[in-house]
Amino acid sequence: MKKFFFLTTLIFMISCTQQTPNKKMGNISEKTIASTIEKIQNATTDFDSKIIEKGIRHASKFWLESDGTEVDFENFCIDNFAKTTQEKVVLFEKIQRNLEILYGNYNTINLQLKEPLHLAKYELTNIDEQFGAFDPYAHFSDDMFQSKIAFIVLLNFPFYTLEEKNELGKYWDRQEWAYARLGDIFNSRIPAHINQQIATNATISENYISNYNIVMGNLRNENNEQLFSDDMFLITHWGLRDELKSNYANADGKGLEKQRMVYNVMKHIVNQTIPQEVINNQEYIWYPTTNKVLKNGQQIDYTAEPDTRYEMFYNNCKSLMDADIYCPTYSTYIQRAFEQAMEISDKEIENMFTNFIGSDEVKNVAQIIEKRLGRKLEPFDIWYDGFKSRSSINEDDLSKKTKAMYPNTQAFEENLPQLLEKIGFSSDSAQNICKKITVDASRGAGHAWGAQMRSDKAHLRTRVAENGMDYKGYNIAIHEFGHNVEQTISLNYVDNYVMNGIPSTAFTEALAFIFQVRDLEFLDITSNKNTDNNALETLDNFWGCYEIMGVSLVDLYTWRWLYQNPNATVKELKENVLHNAKIVWNRFYAPILGEKDSPILAIYSHMIEIPLYLPNYPFGHLVQFQLENFLRDKNIGEEILRIYPAGRLTPNIWMQNAVGHNVSIQPMLEATNQAVNILKN
Ligand SMILES: [Zn+2]
Repeated sequence: MKKFFFLTTLIFMISCTQQTPNKKMGNISEKTIASTIEKIQNATTDFDSKIIEKGIRHASKFWLESDGTEVDFENFCIDNFAKTTQEKVVLFEKIQRNLEILYGNYNTINLQLKEPLHLAKYELTNIDEQFGAFDPYAHFSDDMFQSKIAFIVLLNFPFYTLEEKNELGKYWDRQEWAYARLGDIFNSRIPAHINQQIATNATISENYISNYNIVMGNLRNENNEQLFSDDMFLITHWGLRDELKSNYANADGKGLEKQRMVYNVMKHIVNQTIPQEVINNQEYIWYPTTNKVLKNGQQIDYTAEPDTRYEMFYNNCKSLMDADIYCPTYSTYIQRAFEQAMEISDKEIENMFTNFIGSDEVKNVAQIIEKRLGRKLEPFDIWYDGFKSRSSINEDDLSKKTKAMYPNTQAFEENLPQLLEKIGFSSDSAQNICKKITVDASRGAGHAWGAQMRSDKAHLRTRVAENGMDYKGYNIAIHEFGHNVEQTISLNYVDNYVMNGIPSTAFTEALAFIFQVRDLEFLDITSNKNTDNNALETLDNFWGCYEIMGVSLVDLYTWRWLYQNPNATVKELKENVLHNAKIVWNRFYAPILGEKDSPILAIYSHMIEIPLYLPNYPFGHLVQFQLENFLRDKNIGEEILRIYPAGRLTPNIWMQNAVGHNVSIQPMLEATNQAVNILKN
């Protein structure tokens, strides 16, 4: 197996050197550009001269010597510019039809090749990882440029920056928006070998995380007591965090001790002082407080995990940064994650987040938590979960109910339309949406994988134990269902295929959370909500944002540091992550939760396997909050069907259309103030 892998790597390397990836793009002279613009302007009366110039200049940035001479470039532009409005419409329709075929089938191949990695029904072997890391479309972008299809798009459907979209887009009609979105498709020319490396590193780190379980039944406290049940295996960090949260409602008197133990485990993971032996392994007994390890009753010498966590992070970063020189519009991964993917700049996000977590509201909410807990806050109370109505309900009882209702994935799939009807979808639309969603039993905690063509289905992946779906699994599955509903509406109910989707990931997380907070409603457990309940919900949202905004800033600051220190080593990266975690902690969290220099904000697995994805969560919470506020006295199903077919506008324009305002932290801060006052009285 190793040999096979080495050979493929070698072949890639050989083909790369032949591909001369370092040839500079965009060497067309100003003289040629000017004459091309002039000739096309003379050949058409249907288009504004600015549009013509924009397209030509943009296309020229991607032109390589191997694409042809300057004369070739000029002739290409003259031949391929659609000269009448009608010609442009036809060109647009043909391109978007073919893109659906290409993207849709690619998505299906990718999904199916990764099934053995993602689904529980397969036995996992090495070859599955090889295929899972293999990307059959790694050459797609290259091929589009080589065939010159990409240039036809760049030329006729010019690219607009985020700023331009936000300004001009307010006045665009749907057709103009669709043209602009088509102009986003080829805004980089990353060689296949770099894309392949990015995909490989992503898959390796995903596997590292999805096999990183802590055997909780093997943990012991100083008194040699076992606090957790034998069968409890918790994945980092989600499982650990959720266990920590669930212990706020623990009635056996051991909740606080369990939480402190989980917190200790997390610190060992972040600091990489965790014994390698205890990861995903049932043979060892571990004492997290003293870091003592036993095997067969005997204390053993262990090896600490050798910074593998940060090596995964490092490899992902490096391959993503290798792509920079091939991205003329967004030339750093930070820009690609924010301005391109989220469509909001990192500085705007940083401002929103620091204003939020530094607000006076934090102190006021912390006082309420302290009062409810009857003790001083500790660092892990960033995961305080007592504002949720479910925390007062015994989780085992909920699990009994979910296990009985959902013994397997099929039972869950069959019940999906009823769930939609409970939140106001008509029976017809519920059926139509759920026809497009299928449920699979997953290996990991679960995820939602949407379709990319209208003839295909979205996949809901959820972990179901042999005796049925427990409450934790159910709660995650409801979240994923929210994603699937968004994926289905924003693909099948949008006018133009190129407009399919949402402004950014935050908007799918918003709907996922809107579903997840209704998990009890979906179980027909009525939570007789009053003013106090609504206030509690607001504080829950607020506290969740407070936590994850800090985590997101650690991710962002680490990336900024990486760009200032491109030659850093894995060890230096690790030190910087811990440094940033402590800086953010000491400024915004230690004054509230105590313990100077806690590194806990670095525990999130996302940082390791999906770089710079984290800011999407709090941004999504803000979007969700505004949507929730708006939906409060309306029919949710009807509104979702009105709002989500807008497709991929920018976040602010999408929100204007949805609720009449831009995305902002103010509504949540105001509601938090009101909630604090209600709960104080
Ligand atoms: Zn999600």
